[in-house]
Amino acid sequence: MTQNAIEISGLTKTYAAAGRSEAKTALHGIDLNIPRGTVFGLLGPNGAGKSTLINILAGLVTKTTGTVKIWGFDQDENPRQSRAAIGIMPQEPHLDPFFTPAGSLDVQAGLYGVPKAQRKTAEILNIIGLTDKANAHARSLSGGMRRRLLLGKALVHSPQILVLDEPTAGVDIELRNMLWANVRKLNDQGVTIILTTHYLEEAEAMCDEIAIINHGRQIVRDSTANLLGRLDHKTLVIKPASEANLPALPDTITGQKRKDGRLAFTYQSSKTSADAVLDIIRNAKIEINDITTEQSDLEDVFLALTKS
Ligand code: ADP
Ligand code: MG
Repeated sequence: MTQNAIEISGLTKTYAAAGRSEAKTALHGIDLNIPRGTVFGLLGPNGAGKSTLINILAGLVTKTTGTVKIWGFDQDENPRQSRAAIGIMPQEPHLDPFFTPAGSLDVQAGLYGVPKAQRKTAEILNIIGLTDKANAHARSLSGGMRRRLLLGKALVHSPQILVLDEPTAGVDIELRNMLWANVRKLNDQGVTIILTTHYLEEAEAMCDEIAIINHGRQIVRDSTANLLGRLDHKTLVIKPASEANLPALPDTITGQKRKDGRLAFTYQSSKTSADAVLDIIRNAKIEINDITTEQSDLEDVFLALTKS
C-alpha cells in the first residue's frame, strides 16, 4: 500500500483556444508525490498553474495527459473512489444564493452520496462557527462567512485529503487565524492538507513540505526546513558607535553601508563564521554599538527561484 496521498505523473493541461484567447498550456508535465499526513504547500507566482493543478485533483478541471492517483485510486480507472477521498475549498467561491448554510451542506452531502443518518451538518456548522447562521439566507452572509461555508462544504464527505486554494487571500486576521486553527486540527486528526497561498510567511509556518511551480513546471520540491537552508546566506548587521566606513573585506563577505549608517555583512554560513566577520570589524577598530543578524526566509528563496 502506498503511503502517498497523491501521486501525479506526467501531468499536462492545455486549455483549448476559446473566442479571442489562444490555447494555453498551463501545466507542462508535473511529477509530484504528496505523502499522507502532511501539510503540503503549493507555491508559485500568479498564473503559475497552481489552481489548474488543484482543480484537476479535485475533478473540477479535466487533465490533458498524465496520471493522477488519489489515495491510491487512479482518477480515470476509479473516478468515484478517487473523488470521495478529496475535498476542495476552491479559490473562486460559487455559493448557491438559494440555500441556507445548513441547506448548502446538506445538498453537498447528497452530491457525495452521504446517507442522511451519516451527515454531520451540525458538527460542521460548529467547526466553521456558523451554528447561529444555520438557517440564514445565503445573501445575508458576510464574505468571511461565505468562505467558512466553502470550507464546510469541502468537509461533508469526511475526505482524507483537504485541498485549499488560497484560503486566506483577502480575509481578515481573525478569519485567517480561525481557518488555520481548523486546518491544524484536521491535520492532527490525520487529514492530509494541500494548500496554495500567496503568503510565504504562512507557508513557512504551516507547511511541512513545499513545491514551487512556475510557468507550469515544478522548479523545486523540498521540506520547508531544507528550502530555508538552501539559501545559505546570513547577514550580520552592526550599528557602529560612531560613523564608520566599510573595512576591506575578503571575497567571501559582501559589505553594504546602509542609509541609516549601519554596516551589513553578508556571508555564506557554510564557509564563513560570524566570528570571522566580527574579527574583521574589530581589527578595523570599529566600535560596535548594536548587532543583529538577518536570515533568508522563504520570500528570498522564492524570489531567487522564480525570477525569470
Ligand atoms: P495560478 O492559480 O497559479 O495563479 P492558474 O492555474 O489559475 O494559475 O492559471 C495558469 C494559466 O492557465 C494562466 O496563464 C491562466 O491564464 C490559464 N488559465 C487558467 N484557467 C483557464 C481557463 N479556464 N481557460 C484558459 N486559460 C486558463
Ligand atoms: Mg490560483
